[in-house]
Amino acid sequence: MRASHYFIATLKEAPADAEVTSQKLMLRAGLIKKTAAGIYSWMPMGLKALRKVERIVREEMNRAGAIEVLMPAVQPAELWQESGRWTFYGPELLRLKDRHDRDFVIGPTHEEVITDIARRDIRSYKQLPKHFYQVQTKFRDEIRPRFGVMRGREFVMKDGYSFHASFEDLVREYHNMYATYIRIFTRIGLQFRAVAADTGSIGGTGSHEFHVIADTGEDDIAYCPDSDYAANVELAEALPASKVHGVAKQALTKVHTPGVKTIADLAAFLKIPATDTVKAIVVEAEDGAAVLMLLRGDHELNEIKAQKLDGIKSPLTFASPEAIAAGFGANPGSLGPVGFKGRVIMDRSVAAMSDFVIGANEDDYHYTGANIGRDFPGPELADLRNVVAGDPSPDGKGTLALCRGIEVGHIFQLRTKYAEAMGARFLDENGREQVMEMGCYGIGVSRILGAAIEQNNDARGIIWPTAIAPFELVICPVGWSKSEAVREAANALYTDLTEAGVDVILDDRNERPGVMFADWELIGVPHRIVIGDRGLKEGSAEYQGRRDEAATAVPVDGLAAFVL
Ligand code: ATP
Ligand code: MG
Ligand code: MG
Ligand code: MG
Repeated sequence: MRASHYFIATLKEAPADAEVTSQKLMLRAGLIKKTAAGIYSWMPMGLKALRKVERIVREEMNRAGAIEVLMPAVQPAELWQESGRWTFYGPELLRLKDRHDRDFVIGPTHEEVITDIARRDIRSYKQLPKHFYQVQTKFRDEIRPRFGVMRGREFVMKDGYSFHASFEDLVREYHNMYATYIRIFTRIGLQFRAVAADTGSIGGTGSHEFHVIADTGEDDIAYCPDSDYAANVELAEALPASKVHGVAKQALTKVHTPGVKTIADLAAFLKIPATDTVKAIVVEAEDGAAVLMLLRGDHELNEIKAQKLDGIKSPLTFASPEAIAAGFGANPGSLGPVGFKGRVIMDRSVAAMSDFVIGANEDDYHYTGANIGRDFPGPELADLRNVVAGDPSPDGKGTLALCRGIEVGHIFQLRTKYAEAMGARFLDENGREQVMEMGCYGIGVSRILGAAIEQNNDARGIIWPTAIAPFELVICPVGWSKSEAVREAANALYTDLTEAGVDVILDDRNERPGVMFADWELIGVPHRIVIGDRGLKEGSAEYQGRRDEAATAVPVDGLAAFVL
């Protein structure tokens, strides 16, 4: 690329409303332009970096056996009504009507669309497993879009969805994706951490996030420097209640419990005494739904109910410990602190429990046999809510440290939530109809650019990891219009490097060295070669890596070889 043909529009100052470094630098370097709150245009240089991230993601997803598709941004409301998320998703879901007054959404995610495809096209176990992914534009009407592309409303996500004939096979693919994500983020050149809800090894609850470690991260990560234990302190927030109570229903027994509305009712139904030593666990998700578990002091009576906070399915409202206690006829003092938005609040003693009675989210029914850890986040999560550095690590292998993280990836064992709600079934080897097991796997493709810059910058600008730099190398000729020798040497090097496959830009804008250097340092090109008459007289040019303190003289003859 020749700079004179390209579009370079750097700014001296970042707009006043830019809050974090990556956002300021992306705007100043002209990589993105703000079009509306949380909505950005990708300018040529930013798009180039974005495409490089996409390419790495595609290569690794393909290598892992996933198959690329492209689903629509606009989705019919019917699919969301079928899954139940039309009601549960909340205001992040952008809804619209077409000219015929039909309801649509702009997809914040694509479980419904892909499940609809799978239920129509996959009929036999012979067609399973299948993993479909896409790199696609999402829209989430974030309450607080900020930090540029890191929390946009419109953003690019890689989302993959896998379908399986058995839970074991889902777990296999989950491990496959875990390894693939590590490859992807390593190739991109990020410092990251896989963050789990459980003991740090894959399995159990089946949800991991991948976080880029950066002070501007919006998540608190507790990790153990002496082991691989790491957990998002607020991981519960990433588990909408609709997912949490989408338990593996095949494994549960549905029990008809007419009239059971309170803990006392349930105790009576189960013929066990209701005491006032009840503890509560609340998972309160962003969408206003809540999962409530009530446990008796001796850890035998357990009740989990999933309800809307506004009490649609129940006269109870779960706004405060007192309200919960009153609603369930329990002693408020026994409940512990509850009501934190988006957190799991749990007593440590829960760890000892395995078998639960849970609300079936259906009037007059409960399930028995629910398994904490398998169907719900494990208790380690909850214990982190007030964690401080130096607390013992839940894996017993040292003490915890805290850092901030930017969530760039999230993998999740969905199990049968969508397949069941939408009827995605297949015939097994014995000709019996079974519900498909599902996994989903997201990567914040556009967020990665902001996250990479948060980790790699200095006072002069961005320092791209080479793998995703808009250009790998810039040739800066000093005296472009004046010196034939400089033009010749620069053009020759440009040709050699381009032919060798280096993504190089030749700055033929005839700018002063100071202007050129400031632009490319701001833009963050990782390698720079300066060619000027002075050096050429000695047969040399200057190489400087973006992180180098000083330039190195390199013989002009050996420049290409030096760079390659
Ligand atoms: P967050 O906790 O940051 O809101 P999320 O948990 O809601 O993210 P997921 O539903 O897990 O997001 O989506 C998969 C990935 O998409 C996330 O890991 C993140 O990298 C990216 N992502 C989510 N929301 C945004 C956004 N508003 N802007 C840019 N990227 C996003
Ligand atoms: Mg999250
Ligand atoms: Mg979110
Ligand atoms: Mg997430």
